[in-house]
Amino acid sequence: MALEQIRRVGSFLALVLTKGVDVINVTHLGRQFTAHQQTALEWSDDECQVLGCAEHRRLERDHRTEWSITHHTRTDDADRMCKFHHWLKTVMGFRLEPGHGKRRMLAPDELVGARPP
Ligand SMILES: [Zn+2]
Repeated sequence: MALEQIRRVGSFLALVLTKGVDVINVTHLGRQFTAHQQTALEWSDDECQVLGCAEHRRLERDHRTEWSITHHTRTDDADRMCKFHHWLKTVMGFRLEPGHGKRRMLAPDELVGARPP
């Protein structure tokens, strides 16, 4: 295994390996994220993915495409959000604009015509 980098994630030190478990291309059929997927998400999304929100504590994992539709869990189809923004998305019908990384959260009436950046 090749060690790429050591990084502090919350109160843990995480090791990211370049030839370890492939968490990017593996599709997990369960609804919950595996421990490896959680570590990868903590590595890539160290704060809420909503543009303008700098919350980095107690982030929640979110399936970008609803699990009830896909029936799979993938790190490349997930975001980490603070509790408030995750609630806006899952309960109030808000959505992150298409794409990856930090991006705007759109209110339900802004969703019509939204295009990837
Ligand atoms: Zn947030």
